[in-house]
Amino acid sequence: MTETYTIPVTKAEKTRLGDVDFTKLPFGKVFTDHMLVADYIDGKWQNVSIQPYGNISISPALASLHYGQAIFEGIKAYKGVDGNGYIFRPFDNFKRFNQSAVRMDMPEVPEDIFIEGMRQLIALDIEWIPAKADHALYIRPFMFSTDEVIGVKTSEHYKFMILLCPTGPYFSEPAKIKVEDTYTRAAQGGVGYVKCAGNYGASMFVTAEAKRQGYHQVLWMDAVEHKYVQEIGTMNVFFVIDNKVYTPSLEGSTILAGVTRNSAIQVIRDMGYEVIEEPIHIDNVVKAYKEGRLTEVFGTGTAATISPIRLLNYNGLDMEFDVSSWVIAPGMKKILDEIKERKREDVHNWLFKV
Ligand SMILES: *Cc1c(COP(=O)(O)O)cnc(C)c1O
Repeated sequence: MTETYTIPVTKAEKTRLGDVDFTKLPFGKVFTDHMLVADYIDGKWQNVSIQPYGNISISPALASLHYGQAIFEGIKAYKGVDGNGYIFRPFDNFKRFNQSAVRMDMPEVPEDIFIEGMRQLIALDIEWIPAKADHALYIRPFMFSTDEVIGVKTSEHYKFMILLCPTGPYFSEPAKIKVEDTYTRAAQGGVGYVKCAGNYGASMFVTAEAKRQGYHQVLWMDAVEHKYVQEIGTMNVFFVIDNKVYTPSLEGSTILAGVTRNSAIQVIRDMGYEVIEEPIHIDNVVKAYKEGRLTEVFGTGTAATISPIRLLNYNGLDMEFDVSSWVIAPGMKKILDEIKERKREDVHNWLFKV
């Protein structure tokens, strides 16, 4: 990191903290008092500032609205038992954000703005971090093209922003998931590994169809054979078979390399279990289920953290699980929670103090 510098701040006239019911926090609907804004103009990042949270004005010709150069990240900050705020693995998200930027032909954001800007923004809104189990401050850095031109080409102007949302638990109940074998999300050579807005735009119809059928999300399959498991909505996926833990490998770059995925793999290994990253064929999952060897299925992601799956539907077969009997997913979640709340030693150096 270069010299730490102080970002200019315009403070909100009055905090909205008193208006918020912290016992009922809908995900992503409550924003803190401030936000960070920076502009990319003439080949460099400038106008970095922290401002009161509020609307921004845009041109109807804004390039990102038409051609989709738009990327984002999702990170969480927690209140430790020592009273301090801690951001979970922000440097991993920083690296992934810039990998997304490269693939979308957007400028990379320097550490001074992404990490140091995030730290200063959270320090200002530190009272907004909820200090309750399963609660956190969700951090949303994002960047979008801002050329005011109708025409398909790489934009010359961009805006980078960071928003903060206090949040509670994401899914209230264990999830019901449908294996999606018609529509696909990502093919080799595409942008499956990129956290770009368009990946979500393309998923809405498919997820809405699944919701109409009573599921929460779909489990995406590979685009060629529709047989190899990829990931679920906003989560990576894990299967426990014969007490070994399997998750799809990142080869082929069709899957988002989740920071929670990586943390889960590490913690499960620390617990003494074997974790295998390899292509996972859905027929092997079904076979293991029928033989009683598939005992746990769960998703991992920053927003939902660890999400147990109680029903997985494939081609008319409902694979159901008794979540209360699980060992690995809840054990791993407990360890991760204790690290985040600073009740357990942070042996992997995952927490970054605000
Ligand atoms: C963000 C995201 C995930 C989860 O990644 P984390 O770093 O663990 O939050 C998984 N899949 C997709 C498609 C995502 O966008």
